Amino acid sequence: FNFHKTLITNFSSSSTRLSHNSHNFFLSSSSALKIQKGDITQWSIDGTSAIVNAANEGMLGGGGVDGAIHRAAGRELLAACRSVPEVRPGVRCPTGEAKITPAFKLPVSHVIHTVGPIYNIHDHPEVLLRSSYRNCLRLAKENNIQYVAFPAISCGVFGYPFEEAAAIALSTVKEFSTDFKEVHFVLFSDNIYEVWLEKASELL
Ligand code: ADP
Repeated sequence: FNFHKTLITNFSSSSTRLSHNSHNFFLSSSSALKIQKGDITQWSIDGTSAIVNAANEGMLGGGGVDGAIHRAAGRELLAACRSVPEVRPGVRCPTGEAKITPAFKLPVSHVIHTVGPIYNIHDHPEVLLRSSYRNCLRLAKENNIQYVAFPAISCGVFGYPFEEAAAIALSTVKEFSTDFKEVHFVLFSDNIYEVWLEKASELL
């Protein structure tokens, strides 16, 4: 890997609990992208911050990162999700869209819930995945969030190929290169982490 862009010193006064493992890239002179391995429910940083949940359309919890976020945030998160109005029966957040709630017991300000595409079911999953990332970043910006952490949306049970997902995730974050102090990817598995690093050194 080419880590010539990884030297960010005194970049900000903030620190994260997972930062020892993170690789840093510049998005702009005032904005960094960080890639680290770990559990997104443990992620915290000084400042207005949000973690992104790879939810499903009902927004009432599920497996994978969704289950982990609901367990860590507590029952109040489920109640907040339930109070998001249904756009049609059983659907609170259509695929490609995003909704925001408080984070309750999690050590961040907000949770942004998005629903990525199911790779083998949806037409044009690349359009929907980009839309998920874009809507999360738009919502974060509207809520004056300075620090955002993403998991690898759709890369679990929704079956998105990691390399294609990484290219979409990183290029979409790049569109918002001056809007946040830091955007993080907190990746649970070694292989997804490696794919994200490789793609970031190619694209950033
Ligand atoms: P999707 O339905 O969008 O595919 P999943 O939750 O199945 O969502 O998987 C999305 C990604 O989140 C997968 O790469 C999975 O390994 C990862 N993941 C699972 N638990 C956590 C966690 N606690 N923190 C960060 N990432 C996680």
